[in-house]
Amino acid sequence: MQHRRDTTFVTLPIVALAAAGFGVVLASLAIGAREVDTIALERQRATIEQAIDQFGLSLARELRVQSVWNEGYEKVHAEDLPWLHKYYGTYLNQLLGYDRIYVLSSDDKPVYGFDAQNPGVRSDYAKIAPGLSDLVEAMRVPKPKLPADNILNTEISVGQGYKVHHRAVADVRAIDGRPMTVVISTIVPDHAPPDANEPRPYLLVAIENLDKAFTQQLGTNFGFRDLQWISGDVPTGYDTELVRAANDGIVGTLAWRKDRPGLDFMLRAAPGLMLALLPIALLTYLLIVWGKRQLKRILESEQDATRAARTDALTDLPNRVALRERLGLMLDAARAKSSTVAVVSVDLNHFKGINDAFGHAIGDSVLKACARRLEGLVGDDCLVVRPDGDSFAVLAPGLDNTGVAQLASKVIEELIEPFDVDGTRVFVSASVGYALGLRDGDTGDELMRRAELAVGKAKEEADSVAIAFAPDMDAEVTYRLMLETALRAAVADEAIEVVYQPLMDASGKRVLAVEALARWTDPDFGAISPDIFIPLAEETGLIQAIGGLVLRRAVTDCKAWPDVSVAVNVSASQIHHGDVVDVVRKALAESRTPAHKLEIEITESVLLTDEKRANEQMRGLQGLGVRVALDDFGTGYSSLQYLRRFGFDKLKIDRSFIDGAGDPMGSSVVLASIIKLGQDLDLTITAEGVETEEQRRWLQAAGCHQLQGFLFSRPLTATEMTAFIASHRKNRAVAS
Ligand code: C2E
Ligand code: CA
Ligand code: CA
Repeated sequence: MQHRRDTTFVTLPIVALAAAGFGVVLASLAIGAREVDTIALERQRATIEQAIDQFGLSLARELRVQSVWNEGYEKVHAEDLPWLHKYYGTYLNQLLGYDRIYVLSSDDKPVYGFDAQNPGVRSDYAKIAPGLSDLVEAMRVPKPKLPADNILNTEISVGQGYKVHHRAVADVRAIDGRPMTVVISTIVPDHAPPDANEPRPYLLVAIENLDKAFTQQLGTNFGFRDLQWISGDVPTGYDTELVRAANDGIVGTLAWRKDRPGLDFMLRAAPGLMLALLPIALLTYLLIVWGKRQLKRILESEQDATRAARTDALTDLPNRVALRERLGLMLDAARAKSSTVAVVSVDLNHFKGINDAFGHAIGDSVLKACARRLEGLVGDDCLVVRPDGDSFAVLAPGLDNTGVAQLASKVIEELIEPFDVDGTRVFVSASVGYALGLRDGDTGDELMRRAELAVGKAKEEADSVAIAFAPDMDAEVTYRLMLETALRAAVADEAIEVVYQPLMDASGKRVLAVEALARWTDPDFGAISPDIFIPLAEETGLIQAIGGLVLRRAVTDCKAWPDVSVAVNVSASQIHHGDVVDVVRKALAESRTPAHKLEIEITESVLLTDEKRANEQMRGLQGLGVRVALDDFGTGYSSLQYLRRFGFDKLKIDRSFIDGAGDPMGSSVVLASIIKLGQDLDLTITAEGVETEEQRRWLQAAGCHQLQGFLFSRPLTATEMTAFIASHRKNRAVAS
């Protein structure tokens, strides 16, 4: 539907444009044709008027022969009626086709009359006289008020230096309701001087019907089809002209078949035009087809892009973007139905280890297999997503408390089953946490965050159990955030203190070295254990600053303690995200402390992340003359044999082993073998966490070189340490 509407959106403008184009072409043609037609009609009308006038004048000219004539002149004056009847009446009627002929005297009285229609009646002039009075008057005045087209003035020399003036007027008139041309002509002599006493000449009035013959003639001459006088309605398809006399009286209406040259032209041009427009129409059509296809492609690629942006390429599962959208929708639905949406968040444990051990190809296959297993676990109303690299989430609607707990446990069980990838058996475990909307959160983001908080809790558990979100987890996060802010301030203010704990010789009498330990006391939170703030600093990047600060204090403070080394702890993230070698070199140089006084303690976790870099940094430190100790040995997974190739100078056995020192039932066998191995590798061996004299004695007997623990001293301030060392010098002095 959406799709169709969008295609219309491209088709419509093209069709509209094409239609508009056609429209403009046709309209301009039509307008042009109409204009041509209008002009043609006007011309036709003008032609008719002119033709009628010309016809009148031609009659007037024709009559000159009859009216400029001595005999005629004499006979009219004599009022010789038989003569008038013979030469004017009969002659003009029969030879020249006039219908009525009258002769008027000097005072405009009819002296003779002829009417072809009514041969018996000699003069019915009285009936038509009023309609002709203006024409008669025009004959009598020097300057008649008639249009030039209606008047014919002729000067005629009649000999002996005499001239006579001949005038004729012609016009159309309606007589007895019929259109007629009326010609009135003076009757003058043609060779004798006119009678000086006769002021006004006699007049010859000749009238000719403008009947069918006339219209036919006019039609043929000027190309009017079917020209005719009409009375009443205009027949369809005809143009008309209202013919008026010079005195504006209506004479009649001429009608002729419409002549439309423009329209004719158009009709004639139409097929050619259509032919010419055909390619344009075709082009338009092709444009539409092409446009539609393009649009479809764009829409499809847009859909693909939208899909791709919401899909995890590896597992084909919806990603975090899709998760947010879908969870929002599911929450809306749950709200409407007073139902629930469970978010079960799944994080694979130590997935990096799987990648490292088996390679990324197998790691990818395992992730895909996990995705398929999770999909198989839930119904179609649920959604399995992969928001991050090694985490999944299951969104399940309509579950209650027990339901979501069961689902979460099933997820754990499902993933704990070994995977068989290309013949390799891979074991995976998952930390699972969940939150139930709308109880544990209103928005998708909040629910996700809370489910992930629960996952974090689950990770801390030794056993794989699904953990439900609990409100105090939020409080923990809030506390952590506040702590982070406070730590940031402390680092900026250099409010981190450094204390020192001595490392004694095996007898516990001589101070061989001291370990620098960071301390932080916040005005609000009080003293915070390094077991809390050091990991926090590692996660937030503050460890670089803290590490540098402790190092600089340590190399400075130790100058007060001759023959005593100082050990500084360095975190894995300091090795991987900073240049420890450079920091150490500068600290030594600035304090002018010889490198051999410094030991750096690192844990084996450093080696796990980026073995190559760890190696480089270690070599760098040893290159400066600094010794490197392996701290907390025994807590990790690595064997001593494996650690051998890193070339540590020193081994610090974790204090969890020392508890059992001297206890025959405890871990002393393991401890003894560690010490033996260390000796074989030529390492200086330190035991941490020595709290009792029994432990000391056992460790001394086992061959430990250095001992550290509360038995000798708790961590001390630099000043206290100076005193502590001084008192043990006395011991040494006493002992030696
Ligand atoms: P660690 O490097 O193993 O430091 C030794 C820890 O053992 C110290 O805890 C010390 O007070 C404690 N200890 C010493 N003798 C005994 C004993 O006889 N019994 C018991 N139960 N504990 C003993 P502390 O100072 O709380 O430090 C904890 C950890 O914090 C350190 O463990 C170290 O990993 C980290 N840390 C402390 N200061 C720094 C530092 O400046 N930089 C880095 N990167 N880490 C530090
Ligand atoms: Ca240490
Ligand atoms: Ca340690």
